[in-house]
Amino acid sequence: MAGIYVHIPFCKSKCRYCDFTSFPDKLGFAESYMTCVYREMLMRSAELKDYVFDTLYIGGGTPSVIDESYIAMLVAAAKKYFRMTSDAEITIEMNPGSVSAQKLELYKKCGINRFSVGLQSAIDSLLRDLGRSHTLNQFVASAKLLKGENFNVDVMIGLKGQTLDDISKTIEVASAFGASHISMYALTPEDGTPIYTDYLNGELPDGDEVAEMYAFGVKKLKETGFERYEVSNFCKNGKKSRHNMNYWRRGEYIGFGVSASSCIKNVRFTNTFNLDEYFKCILGNCFPVVDREEIDLQGQKEETVMLALRTSDGLNVSDFNSKFSADFLKDYAAALQKNANYLDVSESNVRIKDEYLFVQNTIICDFFE
Ligand code: SF4
Repeated sequence: MAGIYVHIPFCKSKCRYCDFTSFPDKLGFAESYMTCVYREMLMRSAELKDYVFDTLYIGGGTPSVIDESYIAMLVAAAKKYFRMTSDAEITIEMNPGSVSAQKLELYKKCGINRFSVGLQSAIDSLLRDLGRSHTLNQFVASAKLLKGENFNVDVMIGLKGQTLDDISKTIEVASAFGASHISMYALTPEDGTPIYTDYLNGELPDGDEVAEMYAFGVKKLKETGFERYEVSNFCKNGKKSRHNMNYWRRGEYIGFGVSASSCIKNVRFTNTFNLDEYFKCILGNCFPVVDREEIDLQGQKEETVMLALRTSDGLNVSDFNSKFSADFLKDYAAALQKNANYLDVSESNVRIKDEYLFVQNTIICDFFE
């Protein structure tokens, strides 16, 4: 099974921390853009005819800002050009304030069965500081429309002036309005974004404070009934994101649209980040790929370990051994021994202990040669 990702690079405005490929002033290009995306799908369909896809993830940007008819045509194009399972997980990202009952109706009718809402915080002053274009009330209105649906809520920590109470309230609001999944992740102040100045001025919480927020959030999520299955991802009733699970299992995926990445047959390639170049390539019948890397055996092993150790399930030793003709426990004995206090190791499985998942990057480095 493999996944499909489609990038919709339009937003209502630019958030202060945003480093994603999104163009707040180019919504007028939505129709041309989507036409190119459908065409890019058609161009890739022949080489992927033997693949079966069980997820489609429509991300951005803010996919819900464009007309819902383009989204319906996108889902139809994916089903037409690729073999998709009848129970495929089809997710769309949306921002509070850009969702209407009419939009949701069409989304569901065309087969979308999972939603991801960018709440980030339930505190309006924090939302304003992030440059988000919505308020808590708008989230509440969107969440009411999503009642009974399978939906994720994004929650940010590490914000300027954010308290543990703020995090608690945000998780409570998401849970109370029926979220089945929460992604909780720390703000990364990227160089070149306005929020980077706050970071340089020392206005953002430091590493220890963020670690405390994370530990608090994990505890609160657990109390609220969310089970952690990956460093930043929590769900109720086993409602994991199938699309993301495919990434963490190092499955194959194909991406469409500007800046979308793919990994097929151990070749990773990324589309241009430039909208004009994307249009030119597609209209000229060329793939808009600007970066292509073949992943050698060592790279495949490292990625498999790195991704698996991010998850609560950890690494399945026999799967690894049979896939790479390896002896994991022997080959990685030094790293396993060095990190013995942080790991649960058995003959069949290696996982990072729950309390150390937040520092998984440091542990994982020891598994790289
Ligand atoms: S909504 Fe998301 S993609 Fe759009 S500007 Fe804000 S952070 Fe960036």
